[in-house]
Amino acid sequence: MSAVWHPFTQHGLQEPIPRIARAQGAALYAEDGTRWIDAISSWWVTTHGHNNPRIMAAIRAQTEKLDQLIFAGWTHEPAETLADALVEITPEPLTRVFFSDSGSTSVEVALKMALGYWANIGAARSRILVMEHSYHGDTIGAMSVGARGVFNKPYDPLLFDVGTIPFPAAGQEQATLDALETACRDHPAAFIVEPLILGAGGMLIYRAETLTAMRHICARYGVLFIADEVMTGWGRTGTRFACTQAGIAPDLMCLSKGLTGGALPLAVTLATEDIFAAHYSQDRAKTFYHSSSYTANPIACAAANANLDIWRDEPVQDRIDALAHHQSRQLARFDGDPRITGQRRLGTITAMDIVVPDGGYLSNLAPRLSAHFRERGVLLRPLGNTLYVMPPYCIEDADLVHVYDTISDGLDRV
Ligand SMILES: *Cc1c(COP(=O)(O)O)cnc(C)c1O
Repeated sequence: MSAVWHPFTQHGLQEPIPRIARAQGAALYAEDGTRWIDAISSWWVTTHGHNNPRIMAAIRAQTEKLDQLIFAGWTHEPAETLADALVEITPEPLTRVFFSDSGSTSVEVALKMALGYWANIGAARSRILVMEHSYHGDTIGAMSVGARGVFNKPYDPLLFDVGTIPFPAAGQEQATLDALETACRDHPAAFIVEPLILGAGGMLIYRAETLTAMRHICARYGVLFIADEVMTGWGRTGTRFACTQAGIAPDLMCLSKGLTGGALPLAVTLATEDIFAAHYSQDRAKTFYHSSSYTANPIACAAANANLDIWRDEPVQDRIDALAHHQSRQLARFDGDPRITGQRRLGTITAMDIVVPDGGYLSNLAPRLSAHFRERGVLLRPLGNTLYVMPPYCIEDADLVHVYDTISDGLDRV
């Protein structure tokens, strides 16, 4: 028996839990050599492939120098280099970089910065606007601004109240914009949004024009705009950041998952100079009181710097474009397939919905499919009846074809 309590895992159902010994590129291997294709980038983190040699070398080099350092009032080269580079490549108004260690904490930090901003300028606000079906993490604050459902039902009494804007489904965009505008009239502190695609909510894609319009409404009403690019960042949606496709700059931006290329946990919340300035004072009470022990861990920062070097020196955009193209071609197999609806793609991500009478997450369709994929050497993890493919950018064509063959067989079987 294992002592490990796994995340999002119902141990009572005793599903097999493969034990992985090593990984390379898009492949995972068990001790006995059994191979799986990691078709979801180990939950959306691995961008350039597992055990990328440059990132691994950067980690090794950093371990020879500095392992960990208190970051309150002290600093180190990998964090300084990384912060400068992030300011350089993100939208221009973002000038300040606050480190943490996961997507959820980067969201908590953004929410606290938004509330701190309003409190410190003497106009306290606390209401947060969110988008229907969104996901921002699993800590209490992050759950509060995410969709409510079976995942957070027991904790519901502790989750704070938010204003929810409808998802801008195709043809319904104006209703979303109208609802946002109405909600903005009540002086909320901030609107938090997953740009262009809602990940855990079912890979729901909306138009860049809508993102642009939402950002402008918030600007018009002075409501802070938080872009949660934890999943969308680092090329997933076809550009390094999703906000670029909408030509917008948020007031706060959360990055994590692909920040280190997926090798080590690290997150940042980027803020505008206005938000930093609201905390800048001779008055200690205006300090941004937030930290976690491993804030800006030097080894994780070195991995992130290597990721940025890869983006600078290697044809990452070409790889993303090629993967996007192959993904499109594979997805087209399901055109006219009566078992499937809602085929969609954004950048390197494809998704489709299996036609079932009961689409709820607790239907056992998703676990049955996952088991089929696992047996056929593919790591895929459907979201309810939504199947999606989000591989590392280095996946070989033959492997991608195998992933889609396995999906097709899986549909036959269930
Ligand atoms: C995964 C995710 C998070 C949470 O990140 P963790 O590192 O798992 O805490 C937050 N926001 C979005 C959009 C995500 O996809």
